[in-house]
Amino acid sequence: MRPVRETTVACSVGCRKAGCHRVGDHARGLCEPCYKMTQQYVKDGVTTWTKLERQGKVLQPKATLKEWLLS
Ligand SMILES: [Zn+2]
Repeated sequence: MRPVRETTVACSVGCRKAGCHRVGDHARGLCEPCYKMTQQYVKDGVTTWTKLERQGKVLQPKATLKEWLLS
């Protein structure tokens, strides 16, 4: 049996966005494309991270690697 690459295991967490089937928790529980799109909407003033956090759509940012690893 071929050894499973560690990246496969680490990326087994799915993106939180409904309908998005990409795997990988890039930031705030979203995959990289979804995070970047959301970040753009926040920048444009369409919504805020605080609002999205309250709705449970995104996670709070993890300040340190240790916090992220233990979350
Ligand atoms: Zn996504």
